[in-house]
Amino acid sequence: MSIKKILFVVIIVALIVAFFAFDLGQYFSLQYFKAQQANIMAYYQANRWQTILIFFVIYVAVTGLSLPGAVIMTLVAGAIFGLLWATVIVSFASSIGATLALLVSRFLLRDWVQNKFGDRLQTINDGIKKDGAFYLFTLRLVPAFPFFVINLIMGLTPIRTLVFYLVSQIGMLAGTIVYVNAGTQIAKIESLSGILSPGLIISFTLLGIFPLIAKKIVEFIKARKALRDYPKPKTFDRNMIVIGAGSAGLVASYIAAAVKAKVTLIEKNRMGGDCLNTGCVPSKALIRSAKFLSHAKRAKEFGFRSASVDFDFAEVMERVQRVIKTVEPHDSVERYTKLGVECIEGKATITSPYTVEVNGQTLTTRSIVIAAGGEPFVPPIPGIEDVGYLTSDTVWDLRKLPRRLVVLGGGPIGSELTQAFARFGSQVTQIEMLPRILIHEDPEISEMVAKQFRAEGIDVRVDHKAKEFLVENGQKVVICEHQGKDVRIEFDELLAAVGRVARTKDYGLDELGIGLTKSRTIDTNEFLQTKFPNVYVCGDVAGPYQFTHIAAHQAWFASVNALFGTFKKFKADYSVIPWATFTEPEVARVGLNEQDAKEKGIAYEVTTYGIDDLDRAIVDEEAHGVVKVLTVPGKDKILGVTIVGEHAGDIIAEYVAAMRHSFGLNKILSTIHIYPTLAEANKYAAGEWKRAHAPQGVLRWFERYHGWRRGGGSPTRVSEQAQHKVN
Ligand SMILES: Cc1cc2nc3c(=O)[nH]c(=O)nc-3n(C[C@H](O)[C@H](O)[C@H](O)COP(=O)(O)OP(=O)(O)OC[C@H]3O[C@@H](n4cnc5c(N)ncnc54)[C@H](O)[C@@H]3O)c2cc1C
Repeated sequence: MSIKKILFVVIIVALIVAFFAFDLGQYFSLQYFKAQQANIMAYYQANRWQTILIFFVIYVAVTGLSLPGAVIMTLVAGAIFGLLWATVIVSFASSIGATLALLVSRFLLRDWVQNKFGDRLQTINDGIKKDGAFYLFTLRLVPAFPFFVINLIMGLTPIRTLVFYLVSQIGMLAGTIVYVNAGTQIAKIESLSGILSPGLIISFTLLGIFPLIAKKIVEFIKARKALRDYPKPKTFDRNMIVIGAGSAGLVASYIAAAVKAKVTLIEKNRMGGDCLNTGCVPSKALIRSAKFLSHAKRAKEFGFRSASVDFDFAEVMERVQRVIKTVEPHDSVERYTKLGVECIEGKATITSPYTVEVNGQTLTTRSIVIAAGGEPFVPPIPGIEDVGYLTSDTVWDLRKLPRRLVVLGGGPIGSELTQAFARFGSQVTQIEMLPRILIHEDPEISEMVAKQFRAEGIDVRVDHKAKEFLVENGQKVVICEHQGKDVRIEFDELLAAVGRVARTKDYGLDELGIGLTKSRTIDTNEFLQTKFPNVYVCGDVAGPYQFTHIAAHQAWFASVNALFGTFKKFKADYSVIPWATFTEPEVARVGLNEQDAKEKGIAYEVTTYGIDDLDRAIVDEEAHGVVKVLTVPGKDKILGVTIVGEHAGDIIAEYVAAMRHSFGLNKILSTIHIYPTLAEANKYAAGEWKRAHAPQGVLRWFERYHGWRRGGGSPTRVSEQAQHKVN
């Protein structure tokens, strides 16, 4: 704590202590005022402005220091100054005092509270930023909430001081008038409890929740306005139409059918979308084959003299297609039809919030779920169209292994494909304009992957910005800018993997004025609802994450809200989001890493456990990687975990469950893990944390106790001997 803060605390505490020590509270009672009323009135008659000023200052001080007495002072104001003047004086004094109390609480405690509980307060903070004025107004009007508590709590939130002042002044006005008015009849008042009748309390409460009701009414009017131009059919053919049969659309339609809604799923291309046809499934199948080759290369490590693999790249790519074919029935028209989903092959166009056109037919529906996915983004770099390029959509058509492959992009997709192609024998150059690959991971984590890439012969070029593609004498070349100089890299094939964009064109969004966010995904509220209350969005087209499991997660919210939103809507919950990058070493993460925590100003502790120490990893010749856990300082509460190593994406599941269901490292430590497994790494990481937080004082007492039980020498000598032995 700074000297300034300490001094401030001392002054505040001294003033509060003085108030109670000198029993100043006695002057803030009805009895005292009634006894002194004649004298005070006489003073007021003689010194009008002085009295107002003294009263004002005392009122501000009492509320500013959160001392008891404001209610009595309000009554007294009514008695001395009369209804009008008292209302004006108290209204300003109480608002200024309340704002001072807010500032005191903010100055002394906000940083500490936000640092300590920032992650848990995130939702409240967001709510306050968005609707803080509404909340405060409600609290001010509902007499059940003590005002000084509201002042202090609001100081811990991000509400703006001016907003707080203005809303407080308006919100407290009604209550002020009631008390001041009562004060004008002070002689008749025997206690404070009778001033607010039950009827008045109910009226205030109703007035308090009025802003929230008003907000709902505004939302309702807005929704009605958005739908106004579109005639609502008298009856609907369906409850829900889902556009796109990828991970999001399949789950959304599955849920609708499961709850007996009439649902139609429209797909213009292949059932299963990107994940099955061009994303997760083929990429993981390719990675698996590539891993087999890498194991063969590492034959000596497993006790073999050598191992060679005879293969044809085209056959490997055929295997990838075979895998897709094997998984295909899970996402097929046949399966979904059996589940009760009507499947239509064709391109859907939304023609109104109630109608979708497909194959020349117009279907009416109560709600629409857009799950149109995303597509590879091709950067508009000069010459890129001339040299030609592959993307994650087209790379699966390759049957000839490129001799020299340039992969543009150091994100998860680029990195996974870089390593896979290098393992098949392509000379791969990976180009990334940022200072490192896998930029969303902590620096040492991306370095673990980059180091392995370099060890496998991959030319990893970070800090290289591709600025032009050329064909020179039939030779494809990319010119990159690196530290102010041009670098030439020759290649045979280019794979553009710099990210994916939401599919938002050409199916009615523009025509209906459905807006986009800054990152070009469809704009929705927290319920995944567009400006039309019956049109929802999920999956890659909704963002902000681009993973199959998140698409499925969002699909639940979109479909449930679309079908049952009239009664209750659920906010899409992104509190615990896991993901993995399937390079070798694999990188899995859930929650915060260090760079996120720093960026958000969240205090954390780091515990690491090196997987090189783990028996199973040693047995498997995979003794590398780390479990890195971020926890709340001094507590076992997990803020985030990154795991690097074999099967990281599988073993992190335990931490995902821990975060989702709020159990900490102590619980993980007390769970039996099967020996020898990679999952034991989770327990050992928890053990590292426990060791670092062992109660040293208690342990020293235990040492003394055991020494005494042995009847031997002094505990210090015993530990010195032990230390000596270790050395
Ligand atoms: C190479 C690669 C590897 C990946 N690996 C992983 C991974 O390991 N793990 C992971 O979680 N994620 C991975 N992903 C991401 C994952 O594939 C996507 O997040 C997921 O597929 C998104 O699902 P979706 O339903 O939102 O969209 P999509 O799967 O793209 O489905 C959208 C569907 O909508 C259809 N459509 C669009 N417009 C219309 C229209 N007007 N009418 C009818 N149909 C329409 C499209 O044809 C498409 O089939 C990977 C992606 C790629 C490219």
